[in-house]
Amino acid sequence: MKIVLATSNKDKVKEIKEFLQEYEIYALSEIMKPFEIIENGTSFKTNALIKAQAVYDKICELNLQDEFVALSDDSGISVDVLDGAPGIYSARYSGENATDASNRTKLISELKAKNLTSTNAHYTACIAVSSKFGSYTTHGFMHGKAISEERGENGFGYDFMFIPNGFSKTISELDTQIKLEISHRSKGLELSRYILKALKRKFK
Ligand code: IMP
Repeated sequence: MKIVLATSNKDKVKEIKEFLQEYEIYALSEIMKPFEIIENGTSFKTNALIKAQAVYDKICELNLQDEFVALSDDSGISVDVLDGAPGIYSARYSGENATDASNRTKLISELKAKNLTSTNAHYTACIAVSSKFGSYTTHGFMHGKAISEERGENGFGYDFMFIPNGFSKTISELDTQIKLEISHRSKGLELSRYILKALKRKFK
């Protein structure tokens, strides 16, 4: 059983490959022509399932369903005082042509508008696996503080302005190995290992 990732986000691909080292994992573009997936769900879970199912449908079109499962990650940051925003809209928080940098600028300006330098926030990741034996989801969370400035070099997205609980540095200032141990994505992937293990047995 091999895994194709239902994402074109190279940072996610890197983290997922680093975490699930026991599996043969392929980026989407290695197996099929990347295509647009409309993420119009109302939760991390529905969006993760939309992505995994869309890629699994292509796997079937290519007649690869006896070899591959699709694995997706839908994730984002939620800030308590902003009623959970940006949440599922994390990737497009600053509009149509949003970039990670423009999204951070918007979040920092929202925090500054409330005179906040640091406030409670958490990351969520929903991991979905779609296969010929059905679709499954798991969730992982990382709690901490969103701060109104950018610090550090590592990571992507909102990592430059997020301090996980128990640390005094942003994810971007911490060693990448630490993120791999504590992140929402790793927590979700840890649980998905049980699903993948069960599916692998059925594939034989
Ligand atoms: P998605 O690709 O629709 O799931 O959007 C995920 C967005 O959430 C990314 O573009 C990032 O802005 C943010 N995000 C999710 N996970 C992380 C992370 O581990 N670090 C930093 N930002 C993240």
